[in-house]
Amino acid sequence: MSLVTRFAPSPTGPLHLGHAFSALTADALARSGGGVMLLRFEDIDTARCRPRFESQIFDDLRWLGLSWPEPVMHQSTRRAAYDAALARLQALGVTYRCTCTRGDIRAALAAPQEGAPMIGPDGPVYPGTCRHRGHADPGAAIRLDMVQAIARVGPLSFQETGPDRAGLHQVSPDWLIQHVGDVVLARRDIGTSYHLAVTVDDAAQGITLVTRGLDLFDATPVHRVLQCLLDLPEPAYHHHRLIRDEAGKRLAKRDDARALSKYRAEGATPADIRRLVGL
Ligand code: GLU
Ligand code: ZN
Repeated sequence: MSLVTRFAPSPTGPLHLGHAFSALTADALARSGGGVMLLRFEDIDTARCRPRFESQIFDDLRWLGLSWPEPVMHQSTRRAAYDAALARLQALGVTYRCTCTRGDIRAALAAPQEGAPMIGPDGPVYPGTCRHRGHADPGAAIRLDMVQAIARVGPLSFQETGPDRAGLHQVSPDWLIQHVGDVVLARRDIGTSYHLAVTVDDAAQGITLVTRGLDLFDATPVHRVLQCLLDLPEPAYHHHRLIRDEAGKRLAKRDDARALSKYRAEGATPADIRRLVGL
């Protein structure tokens, strides 16, 4: 089986050095494995995505010397696939509807008996307020009942191929329950979520190696749970180091100071960018 990896930017801002490193890493892995890098726009959050960022991303990636097969996947066109996956998970009885606002969750976590809230890959771990309430409201968010999900899937692991944590990682059920909890599968505004869309689309695109930053390492166990529940194939993972600014802070979308377009405007070459990210 030949290697298929991907670069999956969200067009919510310009590409910066961190994205360049991610795309160049995915491309290098594809080349060295005799495979291919696919491109996917993670544009489910239509309120935050902008066509001008998408055009700029295409342009920056081509300027870096990268190429990819067409057509490029857009998550904004994949709602039917997410709905089908969600229906399957609902039929398994591993989901529930949640009507909590951010404020409700903050208030529940502030209750004295809760102690200090755990911070998981999606922020504070949901206290489970709606888990047994049996909400039927079709406009509510849908959460994964992590305890029920784990009971169905049994022991899980994933294969990490990145240099920092290479090897087989066992997924601890206790860690998933305590540090991740009942993640949102479908937000009320967009009807899906990062975790659900990524899991469904990596399978739909035949991804055999997921290349992404170490900031998403803790999301991988969630994706493994969803893959098992949905009978999807298991890819390998390559979580790469993060590019930081001079102060050691991780670059974010709003770091326009490190946008590729700014380096380009100042006359940098693709070779300069490779050097800046340590390649
Ligand atoms: N769309 C995510 C981002 O822009 C990447 C998701 C992934 O690689 O799993 O950071
Ligand atoms: Zn709730």
